[in-house]
Amino acid sequence: MRVLEKAPAKINLSLDVLHKRPDGYHEVQMIMTTIDLADHLELTELEKDEIRIMSHNRFVPDDHRNLAYQAAKILKERCGIKKGVSISITKTIPVAAGLAGGSSDAAAALRGLNRLWNLGLSMNELAEIGAEIGSDVSFCVYGGTAIATGRGEKIQLISPPPHCWVILAKPTIGVSTAEIYRHLDLKNVKHPNVDAMVKALENKSYEDICDNLGNVLEDVTLSRYPEVAMLKEQMKRFGADAVLMSGSGPTVFGFVQYESKVSRIYNGLRGFCDQVFAVRMLGDCQDLD
Ligand code: ATP
Repeated sequence: MRVLEKAPAKINLSLDVLHKRPDGYHEVQMIMTTIDLADHLELTELEKDEIRIMSHNRFVPDDHRNLAYQAAKILKERCGIKKGVSISITKTIPVAAGLAGGSSDAAAALRGLNRLWNLGLSMNELAEIGAEIGSDVSFCVYGGTAIATGRGEKIQLISPPPHCWVILAKPTIGVSTAEIYRHLDLKNVKHPNVDAMVKALENKSYEDICDNLGNVLEDVTLSRYPEVAMLKEQMKRFGADAVLMSGSGPTVFGFVQYESKVSRIYNGLRGFCDQVFAVRMLGDCQDLD
């Protein structure tokens, strides 16, 4: 038996941090949406009772540190599964980029194993299990467009953005999420207007979505990594309608409404950045199929 699952990347249209909680996590309010940049997982049943991870990307661990491994382990224990599974991950989403690649692989493993092992778990149950692996996994179980609160694990699905092009560029630096949060001074930040973004999505207003993009972590990353600030400037200069950093970075994304502009921006960025992608917005949960 073999099951295939698509694991799309997410971008943050809005990312706000409200305060630090007594348990050490930050209370957040984020609007996330999926884009058509995806890893692909192939899950194959094994007679031997073991979890095997295969990936050809040298930055992706192939043992218990892999989030897809952790997803399989939790499901096996929770549901008393005595069989093994081999999970082959074809990586397209850049690693440690602010695009939730690992979380999406974990979510795809949960969805895929639910089918492979006929577990009959609901999406809500899978999302709850996902929250034990990481804060972004719950959102990735559903995909689509959602507002995430708590430490990111409380998900409410909302209207998807209208279709447009998304150009992504990742500079060749690694940014640690923990480091960015450590340097975030909440008394001294510009909070994005999350409610205005929800309204813009409800109204399907591309202009209002562009006007209300915001990420409270952006200034921290930009001030520490000038190459990210430079990439943002270049993307604007080449003609993107609106530009923002995703998650804690370093990936920068830009929206483009008309296809005629896409190749100019893509080619311009390729001149000085190795990892550049031009993809469509997904935004709808059904797009996972
Ligand atoms: P987020 O946006 O949720 O903060 P990210 O996009 O910044 O995530 P990931 O690509 O998920 O970061 O990778 C972060 C780290 O997780 C990597 O350095 C890697 O060692 C580890 N990791 C574990 N499992 C995976 C996986 N399946 N794919 C990629 N990285 C993984």
